[in-house]
Amino acid sequence: MSDLPEFIEHLYEKYRLLDSGSLASYIPELTKADPNWFAISIVTKEGEVFQVGDSQEHFTIQSISKVFVYGMALEDCNRQILLEKIGVEPTGDPFNSVIRLDENSKRPDNPMVNAGAIATAGLIKGSSATDKLNRMLNMFRRYIGHDVFIDAPVFMSERATGHRNRALANLLLNFGIIDNNIDEILDLYFQQCSLVVNCHDLAVMAATLANRGINPITKQQAVKSCYIRDILSVMHTCGMYNYAGEWAYRVGIPAKSGVSGGIIGVIPDKAGIAVFSPLIDKRGNSVRGIKVFEDLSDEFDLHLFDSPLEKCSFLDISKHSKESMVIGN
Ligand code: GLN
Repeated sequence: MSDLPEFIEHLYEKYRLLDSGSLASYIPELTKADPNWFAISIVTKEGEVFQVGDSQEHFTIQSISKVFVYGMALEDCNRQILLEKIGVEPTGDPFNSVIRLDENSKRPDNPMVNAGAIATAGLIKGSSATDKLNRMLNMFRRYIGHDVFIDAPVFMSERATGHRNRALANLLLNFGIIDNNIDEILDLYFQQCSLVVNCHDLAVMAATLANRGINPITKQQAVKSCYIRDILSVMHTCGMYNYAGEWAYRVGIPAKSGVSGGIIGVIPDKAGIAVFSPLIDKRGNSVRGIKVFEDLSDEFDLHLFDSPLEKCSFLDISKHSKESMVIGN
């Protein structure tokens, strides 16, 4: 088994020049990303940081936000009410599919696809649109551990061109899943997607999920630990859209991707991993991100269903405690 800092450096070099995939262009502002950006960040539950590449480069979180807003909705509404509105079934369809609402319940299939995420945004509590946004930003602050911002041009760009999401919202209204304040709900959804993060932030957020909801660096509780199982279950079955089954088979850890090129993975009780590279495949998942996760999983036996006897994880941190370091820029 390799040494973790060396191995992520090796992965960075191995995939740095891989240039298949393309920038997401249906949100015009996202085409301003640099296709060369590439970062790998890992944060353990003890708060150790391993990273390589452009881990401080800013980008918008996009669909990775769905995981955290789902956690917030669970706290705001409780599990039973949420399940009445949004299912937990993988779709096998693209993330922005114009929904197959469940025939009986009229629910969107799950909270990781756009239809379910818009329904989730509609369940966030607050006395006004501003109050809801502030509550959401506070939630993200707890996960990230520092102040957070919305990228206004990305928000405006998606708001101006998000006709498909508007169509989904209208269908959800038709079936009584959201109320008729569609514009407010969509704004909140577009704002959550426009949250500014870097790859290190994403790894801290993933590590918080790995650490029963407690940010391993600030030690602040970001989400009630009783909801971690709900969040990780939907990530595991639905987080990579119509690649979720293959991902579960090949990589085997709960994960979530976004069209700006981030992927987070959670190794329960151990660590959070984030990869950022904006070139995405036709399913909306980062091309280099998938490769890095596959290699990390193979090298360190991270697949959840690997035999415990075979696991000789890098996450035995005693081995690395003196080596926690930042590599690259
Ligand atoms: N904001 C994007 C959208 O709603 C998020 C999609 C994604 O990252 N997969 O289309």
